[in-house]
Amino acid sequence: MSFDRALRCRECGREYPLAPIFSCEFCFGPLEVAYDYEAMRGRITRESIAAGPATLWRYADLLPCDAAYRVDIGTGFTPLQRADRLAEAVGLRTLWLKNDTVNPTWSFKDRVVSVAIARARQFGFEAIACASTGNLANSVCAHAARSGMEVYVFIPDDLEHGKVVGSAVYHPTLVMVDGTYDDVNRLCTELSQSYPWAFVNINVRPYYAEGSRTLGFEVAEQLGWRAPGACVVPMASGSLFTKIRKGFSEFAELGLIEEPATRMFGAQASGCSPITTAHQAGTLNFVPQKPDTIARSLAIGNPADGYYALKTMQETGGGAEMATDEEIVEGIKLLAETEGIFSETAGGVTVACLRKLVESGAISPEEETVAFITGAGLKTVEAVSGDVADPLRVPARTEVFSEALAERRRAAAEPAGAGAR
Ligand SMILES: *Cc1c(COP(=O)(O)O)cnc(C)c1O
Ligand SMILES: [Zn+2]
Repeated sequence: MSFDRALRCRECGREYPLAPIFSCEFCFGPLEVAYDYEAMRGRITRESIAAGPATLWRYADLLPCDAAYRVDIGTGFTPLQRADRLAEAVGLRTLWLKNDTVNPTWSFKDRVVSVAIARARQFGFEAIACASTGNLANSVCAHAARSGMEVYVFIPDDLEHGKVVGSAVYHPTLVMVDGTYDDVNRLCTELSQSYPWAFVNINVRPYYAEGSRTLGFEVAEQLGWRAPGACVVPMASGSLFTKIRKGFSEFAELGLIEEPATRMFGAQASGCSPITTAHQAGTLNFVPQKPDTIARSLAIGNPADGYYALKTMQETGGGAEMATDEEIVEGIKLLAETEGIFSETAGGVTVACLRKLVESGAISPEEETVAFITGAGLKTVEAVSGDVADPLRVPARTEVFSEALAERRRAAAEPAGAGAR
């Protein structure tokens, strides 16, 4: 059962009944789901969770929706992988990767959509919609297809081919908007006032956002019921970043883990870094940017939860970094070569920022760290396709192959630049 009790304004604390609304009528602050932790305590235990399914529905009692309305495509409980080779490359003793590339639509967005669509059905919506940088659209379309709901997804017109086809294949009404994500979001906010649709990240955003807590729950459970020393998390709107931390705190509140001392570090692309830039300037108030980066999934210039992400960094003694397009590509390749995970550009941002955070001393080599890899690489192949080694091209003949192999090995053994002399 669900222990959600009300919606509460994050600014003035006023409470509202659970409804498809997202901002406070008095101060325009964002609304967040409030729970009855008193009633949860003792009823949600390590044992009751461990007895659940190997999906995010093992935390059904902690989600703000009636699980009877769920559209289950097998999201969550993804691997937490010890990453010794990457740890050595970046200079850490203990590193874990939370591999969310293996979700049903290959990104962590399946978590937030799982909760949003269940809540939307519970409210009686017959159509689901979203403003998306790509991954969210893919997930909304897949869940809508599985449930038989009508679906309308809105994306900027410069997305990667894999993300466009990755929505279109489910046969939604797919709308490409001439503009940035921030333009798409503004349009959808307007549309949500006249169309009777559940926009997962607008009018049902308070419920949607709660789905990201399951990443915190899983990491704590998979570490043997404890929180790590540091987390490195990619940031677009900043919501995921804040909710991972909230997940640890709630587990502590329920007595499932000790009070967490986890330091939260955010990762952005240099070409869209409003949150990181504000953190480095020592302010909680970011200045919106016009994105220009290959990390399209993170290209939100006016992040809805930027202020709260900055507060989370301050409260936890964490920080933020940013990575150039070149560093993002290097990050993707380093992760693939050391740990066997092919991530999209957001994962490249995370790995590049992780490396810089250790280099600068912001994260110490002794600090047990979890890096969140939130989306899969086949969706953004164009980011690295010009930067990987060409295959050996040979006819099907042993001697030609052997010659080509010897040649490739000779070239690899030469010091860089030697061939030019
Ligand atoms: C959406 C997204 C994020 C960040 O999400 P926010 O909650 O908006 O900060 C991170 N990684 C990937 C791959 C995403 O698609
Ligand atoms: Zn308020």
